[in-house]
Amino acid sequence: MAELPQATRLIAVSKFHPASAVQEAYDAGQRVFGESRLQELQLKQAQLPKDIEWHFIGHLQSNKVKQVVALAHTIHTIDSIKLLAEVDRCALKEGRTVRCLLQIHIAQEETKYGFDPQSCRQLLTPELLHSLKGVEIVGLMGMATYTDNLQQVREEFKSLATLFRELQQTLFAQYPNFCELSMGMSDDYSIAIEEGSTYVRIGSSIFGSRE
Ligand SMILES: *Cc1c(COP(=O)(O)O)cnc(C)c1O
Repeated sequence: MAELPQATRLIAVSKFHPASAVQEAYDAGQRVFGESRLQELQLKQAQLPKDIEWHFIGHLQSNKVKQVVALAHTIHTIDSIKLLAEVDRCALKEGRTVRCLLQIHIAQEETKYGFDPQSCRQLLTPELLHSLKGVEIVGLMGMATYTDNLQQVREEFKSLATLFRELQQTLFAQYPNFCELSMGMSDDYSIAIEEGSTYVRIGSSIFGSRE
């Protein structure tokens, strides 16, 4: 992997890889890891050093929110207002604030989760933001289409970055912590960085291919 610019942080996506692989990356200095399933997160969190910052990057079901909230530093995959409300409720109960990113649907595939940009503009209101007590919305996350067409990937990242800047200047103008743009994986992170990513989520380029 090429070196990342200062403003972009690396989330080492360790899903499907054993705790020993995480430990090895930890020993090399990495502290921020991404997991996509609750059970795996629980197993690794229990075994590994407590100063690891765990980022939850998988699709999150309502019935797992409580346990994810207990362990995750940041959740990247808020894809409905209902889920946002549930994370807020559980975080309050837990007595903490959870950093969350809104997942935006930018790809052409229908299978990817997320708000579409227009519904995101409509559903998020100042009142809603103001009512959140256990959640801090810190930015947007998106996944580009899985394709060899790099121009398409770039356009999708551009559209996410444009929405991000628009929201920064409008709805989130009073929220300086709304400053993260989570985009870019092993195959497309260099394009994502060029388009303004602050978090790249990289798995296979670090840990090898998954089973
Ligand atoms: C698995 C996964 C990644 C990492 O993908 P690689 O192609 O292995 O780098 C990044 N983001 C999300 C949301 C993932 O599920």
